[in-house]
Amino acid sequence: MQNAKKLYYGEKITVTFQPEKCIHSGVCVQGFPSVFNLDKRPWIDPDAATAEAIAQHIDKCPSGALEYELLDEDKSDKKEEHNNA
Ligand code: SF4
Repeated sequence: MQNAKKLYYGEKITVTFQPEKCIHSGVCVQGFPSVFNLDKRPWIDPDAATAEAIAQHIDKCPSGALEYELLDEDKSDKKEEHNNA
């Protein structure tokens, strides 16, 4: 299978997840279960916390499987992107 990137759309943030990259460290689900919960479908709820808090937590993903894009309400000239190397 090709690298499938799954997208989870929130009001202020879009979270992407690449299962192939995930090393199952558990950082996401253990550290922020209100947003990352494997018992729920979809397992990522980008509206369950502030976009900033979710973004900061995604920065801790050790594999880069999780990434995000912050959605600016004023999309005219600003667009933040994040690439977790
Ligand atoms: S923090 Fe990243 S590597 Fe760890 S389980 Fe979550 S997605 Fe996978």
